[in-house]
Amino acid sequence: MSNSLLSVLFGFVLGSIVGSFLNVCIYRLPREESIVFPGSHCPKCGTPIKWYDNIPIISYLLLRGRCRYCGEKISPTYPLIELLTAILTAAIFFRFGITFDALYYSILTWFLIVISAIDIKEMMVPVKPCYIVMILGIALSPFTHSMNIVDSILGASLGSGIILFIIETYFMIRGREGMGYGDANIMATIGAFLGWKKVFFVIFFASLIGAVIGIIFIISKDKDSETPLPFGPFLAVGGYLTIFLGNLLLKFYLGG
Ligand SMILES: [Zn+2]
Repeated sequence: MSNSLLSVLFGFVLGSIVGSFLNVCIYRLPREESIVFPGSHCPKCGTPIKWYDNIPIISYLLLRGRCRYCGEKISPTYPLIELLTAILTAAIFFRFGITFDALYYSILTWFLIVISAIDIKEMMVPVKPCYIVMILGIALSPFTHSMNIVDSILGASLGSGIILFIIETYFMIRGREGMGYGDANIMATIGAFLGWKKVFFVIFFASLIGAVIGIIFIISKDKDSETPLPFGPFLAVGGYLTIFLGNLLLKFYLGG
């Protein structure tokens, strides 16, 4: 088996297992419940879910999307999050191989999936997970090839600083909030993993995607520009793209 195929397979299996845990985080973090205890159970009949009914993606298909005991429908977002996590993680391992850097960027990606899903579902960004993952990013940065602790701390500071500046400026001009403070926390975490220079690329990508989606949203729903659109998912997509394109863009801008 070739090295890159092995990396993709490894990333896919790891991602699908982690994706299963991310589902728990997405459901429980906004409710401030423990993400460890109790184990997964059916929300309708309360029966604990056995290991063989908890295999990522596969169990959902075998059970045809229903609880084995009471027949309650299971939301398709569960296997979709597992599949999404598996694919995004596989792509990172394809790019970086089975290395610590691949794990480092996967942790950021997993965080971005959870935060985006919560932002879309609940229109809020939980604070604690942002800080915990940000500190993890700073603490692990010395063990990577591409990052160091100074760049990581500068990235977190600049990331939150720019978003806070945008919030304040927007408030001065329009007299209301454009982005939330949660977006500053998301950007701080992304900055901790990618370093201060790449913060600009992330915000550029996020604004570009946000503008395109915003326009589509306004046209299709016939709503005015006052409709709040969560910005977190755009920062997340920007962050994920920058994991792959950041170094290339840096070279391009520095004329290397
Ligand atoms: Zn049930």
